[in-house]
Amino acid sequence: MDTAGKRKRLVVLGGGESGVGAAILAKDKGMDVFLSDSGTIPAHYRQTLIDENIPFEEGRHTMDLIVNADEVVKSPGIPPTAPPVREVIARHIPVISEIEFAGRYTDSKMVCITGSNGKTTTTLLTYHIFRKAGIDVGLAGNVGKSLALQVSRDPHDVYVIELSSFQLENMYDFKANVAVMMNITPDHLDRYDYTMQNYINAKFRILNNMTDCDSFVFWKYDPIIADQLKHLETQARLVPFAEHKESPYTAAYVEEEDETVIFSPPAANSTLRMPRADLALHGLHNLYNSMAAALSASILDVRKEAIREALADFEGVEHRLEYCGTINGVRYINDSKATNVNSCWYALESMPSGRKSVVLILGGKDKGNDYSEIMPLVEKKVKAIVAMGKDNTKIIDYFGGTVAVTDTHSLADAVAACRSLAESGDTVLLSPCCASFDLFKSYEDRGEQFKNAVDRLKQAE
Ligand code: ADP
Repeated sequence: MDTAGKRKRLVVLGGGESGVGAAILAKDKGMDVFLSDSGTIPAHYRQTLIDENIPFEEGRHTMDLIVNADEVVKSPGIPPTAPPVREVIARHIPVISEIEFAGRYTDSKMVCITGSNGKTTTTLLTYHIFRKAGIDVGLAGNVGKSLALQVSRDPHDVYVIELSSFQLENMYDFKANVAVMMNITPDHLDRYDYTMQNYINAKFRILNNMTDCDSFVFWKYDPIIADQLKHLETQARLVPFAEHKESPYTAAYVEEEDETVIFSPPAANSTLRMPRADLALHGLHNLYNSMAAALSASILDVRKEAIREALADFEGVEHRLEYCGTINGVRYINDSKATNVNSCWYALESMPSGRKSVVLILGGKDKGNDYSEIMPLVEKKVKAIVAMGKDNTKIIDYFGGTVAVTDTHSLADAVAACRSLAESGDTVLLSPCCASFDLFKSYEDRGEQFKNAVDRLKQAE
């Protein structure tokens, strides 16, 4: 209610998980809610809106029903340039994200995880640690149920939230208790006027409003993060992690002599040590993910034993360096979520060195890729590339002079090519550097189809 006793009108743009959650929270808070989606609302969300008696429209945006809002919650997938958003901004109606909205109605602890790569893995691992410790924890953001729905209907003491730059764009007063930034490499630049700084600025909104009671966990040697920290002021305690401890304070690192991982967050009364070999997730990128998750949990006083156990028994996340099986001595790995060049770099980095033993499936919808980043690893570890996309010209032109590239346009042909190229001891790695939409519905669909093809190969043997 405002001072004149009028109910606040909240308009939600977008009828997905976050939009429907925000609408339910607004209804529960007694607001006059309206949800508008220019596309088709998925059936189960539509049913929820009907059951909850929340007015909505789909297939259009009726501006008269939108511009009378006191505030608008915008789903992260809708760009700020979309016509209804422009109109609302032109009328000075505040536009916020679902996380910003939900954050107003809870005092629970917030662990917020962002970065260009590693968000989902770190978020799920952090969530796993809290659960292992018996803490009442909710999973939100890009994964799990919307924060708004949980705050309203199923509240928790702690939330672990995966935040994309899209979500951060419309966050203002929200405060994280622990903010995690894994890394920053070019991604989604099409949404940021092809200006890297705009993308960086969106990511750094995660530090908004943090005080000296809060902590910023980050990869110490990310050049962009390091550069930003020189310029911006934050009161948050800095909690850097790195592979090795090279200068005064590093909160987590590996001791070179015996490959022990040390976790020593600021103000913690004791240090957690565990052999690197005991970490369930392998590869350098996953060492970082494990460090970020463990530091976040220990900052919020989770028991060392629970952290240690959870880091050791985490089962990994589908489509991220997921082991699919070994056929005739050849390992098959599904890393379909590697939709940019940097994530493929980490996948290759985690492959055995010594000889060229990787048959790499690359390709799909190119987001303006610069393949020079992976070239040194390709030269060292890749015996053949199988290009899999509608148009493979860029990959063939770029890598053709260095390594044999097979041109394929379907998953079946790509897997058949890999099968004939790989020998016992080799690895077939799907880590495509590209979005999937040219041949597949999504990266999940691409990963599923790859796993099914591998299963068929297993049966045929
Ligand atoms: P996000 O949610 O940020 O997209 P994911 O955890 O889903 O991150 O992983 C996406 C891809 O990036 C996978 O291919 C994975 O192997 C790779 N990856 C995971 N963690 C990292 C990291 N810390 N740095 C770089 N790449 C990573």
